[in-house]
Amino acid sequence: MSNQNVIEKFDSHVAGSYGRLPIALSKGDKGETTDENGKEYIDFGSGIGVNSLGFCDAEWVEAVTRQAATLQHTSNYYYTGIQADFAALLCGITGYERVFFGNSGAEANECAMKVARKYSSDRYGKNRGTIITLENSFHGRTMETLAATGQAVFHEYFYPFPEGFKYVPANDAMALRAAVDDSVCAIMLEYIQGEGGVNVLSQEFVDAVFAIAEEKDILVIADEVQSGVGRTGRFLAGEHFGKHADITTLAKGIAGGLPMGACLMNEKTAGVLTPGTHGSTFGGNPVVCAGGKVVLERMQRPGFLESVSEKAEHIYARLSAMPGVKSLSGIGLMIGITLADTVGKDAPAVKNLALEKGLLVLTAKEKVRLLPPLTLTMEEIDRGLDILGEILA
Ligand SMILES: *Cc1c(COP(=O)(O)O)cnc(C)c1O
Repeated sequence: MSNQNVIEKFDSHVAGSYGRLPIALSKGDKGETTDENGKEYIDFGSGIGVNSLGFCDAEWVEAVTRQAATLQHTSNYYYTGIQADFAALLCGITGYERVFFGNSGAEANECAMKVARKYSSDRYGKNRGTIITLENSFHGRTMETLAATGQAVFHEYFYPFPEGFKYVPANDAMALRAAVDDSVCAIMLEYIQGEGGVNVLSQEFVDAVFAIAEEKDILVIADEVQSGVGRTGRFLAGEHFGKHADITTLAKGIAGGLPMGACLMNEKTAGVLTPGTHGSTFGGNPVVCAGGKVVLERMQRPGFLESVSEKAEHIYARLSAMPGVKSLSGIGLMIGITLADTVGKDAPAVKNLALEKGLLVLTAKEKVRLLPPLTLTMEEIDRGLDILGEILA
């Protein structure tokens, strides 16, 4: 096999819904991955924040393979010990009462929106189903989460879109207040807009969201699909703002590379889902929960989350000293780089050059985006930053 072989076969059979880079990855080990031509790359993307423990972490592999050889799946009409263990651990760490498991970020958000609407309908009846989301947000690719996504570019082609959404500019509390009427049941936000360009919400705005929500018994849904599970140096990004939303959604990094979405519900919302109101065939799958349990246990080890912040500080310090870097955004290992004009290249061009030089990075809007595995070593970080420094020089 070579990159070329794979790409030809792939492109003749797989839907063309992605703009892919011209390499085929064959294996990975910790912070590095290898393509079909044998070329190695340092990974500053972790599969869009998914491989939180890097590639093929030994304990994770052991737990996942052991579970696969013991009980790989059962329907949600039965209980399993591993789902119970994982849910207890997740609720314990996050301070939520209950969790619903799906298989992706979009599904976690679908669940969150269903919970918000049912909470409202249980208490106030019909006609209180509007969800306010922020401009420039990203909540997923299903029809409902596309409708929730506050970017016009996502509202093309696939009409008709579901109704029941209003969009307000991020960090504009006045606009939010003006948008709140008797039809609103929830406000959904990303504390750090990921796909929207690694934009951190202001504390002032987040305070206003929670104040307005409390005043009117509107629920706050925090979409932490990208920012959650230790990415920012805290388990939830909401902790940086001193906030605990009524509903928080997690996915990407939660199971270290296996598909899981989690919708966390607080004491207000924990009882909303009753038998028959929601479901997912694969949700809470034992193998996925076994992988997730290793991720959560790792994050609870003394010093783990602190090490994420230390790595982040090191990266921010080195990037800030690079003349090609105009500004930085983000918290912890969720990092957006605005390029200086002197670089003479846009973010996609930097991403392509990095690939040639053996470094995987991401982009978000006009920025280069870094979401490295949380377990990357300082040595791997420095090698990656050396490559980035060369490109931006
Ligand atoms: C990636 C992402 C999603 C969608 O997750 P999928 O697993 O692709 O469905 C939703 N919200 C945010 C903030 C994301 O970053």
